[in-house]
Amino acid sequence: MSSWLRSDINAMAAGQGMDLLTFVLVPLAAAMLVRTAVYFLGAAVPVSRVQVWFARAAAAMPGIVFLGLGPTVFRSAHARPGPMLLCILHCYGLFAVFAGVLLSRMFAFGRQFASCQRLLEITEAPSERNAKLATELGIRLRVLPSQFSVCVVTGIWKPVVVISRGTLESLSWEELRAALMHERAHCRGRETCWAAGLWFLSGATFAPVRSAFDAYKRASEFAADGEAIREVCSVTLASALVAVARSRRDRPLLAGLASRENLRERVALLVGAEDPKKACRGAGVLISVALAAAATLPLVGGIARNFVHVFCR
Ligand SMILES: [Zn+2]
Repeated sequence: MSSWLRSDINAMAAGQGMDLLTFVLVPLAAAMLVRTAVYFLGAAVPVSRVQVWFARAAAAMPGIVFLGLGPTVFRSAHARPGPMLLCILHCYGLFAVFAGVLLSRMFAFGRQFASCQRLLEITEAPSERNAKLATELGIRLRVLPSQFSVCVVTGIWKPVVVISRGTLESLSWEELRAALMHERAHCRGRETCWAAGLWFLSGATFAPVRSAFDAYKRASEFAADGEAIREVCSVTLASALVAVARSRRDRPLLAGLASRENLRERVALLVGAEDPKKACRGAGVLISVALAAAATLPLVGGIARNFVHVFCR
């Protein structure tokens, strides 16, 4: 074994590689904990607002944990552990990976944002009748001149409901009203803003948990359905979902009316063919414990460093 590799291993054993270990192991441990939370979230039909908040916390956690390692990364960039390999990894490696992950996520976010803006630019004002309905519901409505089936909310700060001509033609007046009620729930809940932030955070790590963002989208759809059916017939909303879901293109920053992944589940719930299965209290506790444990992970580096300092020197 070459002498420099041996000196690297000795330095690791003496606790000099703690930052490196923390940087690799903490995001992986967070991903495992978030996966556990998402598993329990998936076991229930998320009809309550608490479950939506759990789903938001789970989606945000991978990014929060990764960003929480920022101080560790900057500290290691200034540290000069003696041996060569350890020094290169510490001083440049961690910073390069950290900055690379954040920059690539920001770039992807910019592309998604631009595609949403382009969608808005090609929309038109709605007809007088539809504009009157939008005013009555308190939403901003734009019409996409396309026969594709589109019914989404876009616009991060000022949510706008975009509906295509094809969708307007395929829905009855009552179905359109039900669809817009669902979209209004997304606008009121500021779901496009949440979706943008959570989409960024869910992937701002080298160990992303894609199912966590999907769980949040699923929960927000159920919550919007629940809010809509307080004022419209649930069967009418179910038929609007089926009509819109025929050909829909998904975009992470858009809150759409219908997604094929959970369509069957939502329609069954709306027409009363399925009872809402509430997450049992034990599952809520497990989700909370998993997320709280993940949230404290960025502190692990400091604790491990102190532990090594006290007991290994
Ligand atoms: Zn929706």
